[in-house]
Amino acid sequence: MTQGTEMLATGIEGIAAAVDLVKTYQQGGTEIMALDHVTVGFSRARFTAIAGPSGSGKSTLMHCLAGLDSATSGQVLLDGTELTGLSDRALTRVRRDKVGFVFQSFNLLPQLTALENIALPVTMAGRSLDHDLLDHLVGVLGLGDRMTHRPGELSGGQQQRVALARALVARPAVVFADEPTGNLDSRSGTEVLDFLRRSVRDLDQTVIMVTHDPRAAAYADRVLVLADGRVVDDVDTATGADVTRVLQITGRAG
Ligand code: ADP
Repeated sequence: MTQGTEMLATGIEGIAAAVDLVKTYQQGGTEIMALDHVTVGFSRARFTAIAGPSGSGKSTLMHCLAGLDSATSGQVLLDGTELTGLSDRALTRVRRDKVGFVFQSFNLLPQLTALENIALPVTMAGRSLDHDLLDHLVGVLGLGDRMTHRPGELSGGQQQRVALARALVARPAVVFADEPTGNLDSRSGTEVLDFLRRSVRDLDQTVIMVTHDPRAAAYADRVLVLADGRVVDDVDTATGADVTRVLQITGRAG
């Protein structure tokens, strides 16, 4: 395990990086190239969207970056740790210590209250909860009067806001969000995207979000566009680029 560096030999920098990453699947005797030599770095305290049509490799890239899946070849670096070649046990530890997840389907435990769901990853890791940060997140997310409710008593938007608090309260190196607005109405989706953007600005959180929705991608600072397992566009939204138009013109909106 390589510790303490944020730069690989190739010069790719960032809190997360993929270098010459290849992921293939075997299906019915044919090889599917889900990631085709992807090299990309993700800067700290930035909100990056990974966009592209269905089947372009978005989820595969996210899963490899987050230590949920291992690549066929190439390197992944996450907060100074090289993930390539780590055992399942070591990968579990990396995920626990460095990563926060937000899923399309919220993935809250139904028998636990909102507060218990938020605290669970921190307490399972044997760490103590940062109560100041918890109060801040609960306030910003408007969850103050929902903390004793179970997920079944919350709307989809409220459940996703609980999931956001759970992801951020451990101060992870990177929050990975996988289609976080996919199950939400437009207003709740906007609240989630606003919050993610705000967490980058106010808490220096690094966020990497997979989405096939150009409207969601437009909230990010940077949009990485995949097609057929390759990076085909890398759009800095600060330059005034209209991401929705870019994705529609290139037919990569999914
Ligand atoms: P996206 O997230 O952009 O929809 P994926 O990363 O899920 O794309 O998939 C990329 C490619 O890899 C697709 O062709 C998909 O069918 C294939 N793929 C993904 N997971 C598997 C798997 N477990 N087995 C076989 N093929 C897979």
